[in-house]
Amino acid sequence: MAKILVVEDNALNIKLFCDLLMAHGHDAQPVTDSRDALSAARSFAPDLIITDIQLPHLSGIELMQLVRSDDQLADVPIMAVTAYAAQGDDERIRAAGAQSYVSKPISVARFVEAVEQLLEAGRVDTGQNEPAFPGPADSKPS
Ligand code: MN
Repeated sequence: MAKILVVEDNALNIKLFCDLLMAHGHDAQPVTDSRDALSAARSFAPDLIITDIQLPHLSGIELMQLVRSDDQLADVPIMAVTAYAAQGDDERIRAAGAQSYVSKPISVARFVEAVEQLLEAGRVDTGQNEPAFPGPADSKPS
């Protein structure tokens, strides 16, 4: 079971996403106002964040950028969901920090598959986890 934060302003979609995730044994936490998403993510400590792109107030792109620059959340995988995947959106969405995205209306199979793939891949390599000075393993005086 994974903890999954779902950010989506559309009531029907967020119910669908959360129902699907729970049917697959996950713990889904819905957030309908993107302004609450960052603090909700910090306290929920999700294994995966799913976010809509077209959100009022704080867009999905902005939210992903905040997550990626947050100390606690930077390595949490993100799946974006978007209704308007135009040319160039793929790059824009990935550049903002998403590992994957699915278009709305979602295919249930594709949605679930993308979720499981991201959970399997686990934490995102932010390239910032290497110790600055990796000392030799036997550097401790005995
Ligand atoms: Mn929306």
